[in-house]
Amino acid sequence: MAVIERARTMTPWRWRDVPLVLMYHTVDVLTDDPHRLAVSPRRFVRQLATLRRLGLRGVGVGHLLAARRAGRSAGLVGITFDDGYAGVVRHALPAMRRFGCTATVFVVADRIGAVNDWDGGELALLDGPDLAALAGAGWEIGAHGARHVPLAGLGDATLRDEVTGSRDRLAALLDAPVDGFCYPYGSMDAAARAAVTAAGYRYACAVDAPRAAIGVAAVPRIYVGERDGALRLTGKRVLYRARLASGGRS
Ligand SMILES: [Zn+2]
Repeated sequence: MAVIERARTMTPWRWRDVPLVLMYHTVDVLTDDPHRLAVSPRRFVRQLATLRRLGLRGVGVGHLLAARRAGRSAGLVGITFDDGYAGVVRHALPAMRRFGCTATVFVVADRIGAVNDWDGGELALLDGPDLAALAGAGWEIGAHGARHVPLAGLGDATLRDEVTGSRDRLAALLDAPVDGFCYPYGSMDAAARAAVTAAGYRYACAVDAPRAAIGVAAVPRIYVGERDGALRLTGKRVLYRARLASGGRS
């Protein structure tokens, strides 16, 4: 079983098997947003409507990958929110509920209920009750490291704490297993991917990934921002498929 599991983890996906996963950070109106983290609630609802017109319903990545293994992922798109901002529960959750969608939110295990100080920011992050509300609505809670540091090049002990430690502490807080990981800043190397697999995660989300690494330990995602209206969002999806097919970076 372990051998089969390892083979499943290490085998790169063929381009046509790469699932479509969208990457958000928060849904909110921010006065100062230098890292373009926020999509406004108005725009977000329009993007969900666009997905619906395309015949797509948003689900968490764990759900999407399980459906894919069962051959039932047609019509599903993965939706993710990185960092765990408070806007997710306030603005994204009610909109997603209206459209019958769920998502995965990747939270920083040692910053629950705090602020995004890794960017020198002061944006409020989800607290314990917020996470319980999301889990209760069928959302998946995944780990985004312990402190939001880039994983590539980290020493063994720190890498283990960021990957295994964050999983253990989050699972204890949620009283539920944590199956999904997301590399902070999309930063990963072979050691980081191996650490994620060794920690027992079922998958990990990247941003761009080298073609040979794309698979359950490096699920590529498409950034979606405030500028993505219906046309741009639809076009991005088509371009993404074309880029994967041409063997380029995701
Ligand atoms: Zn992040």
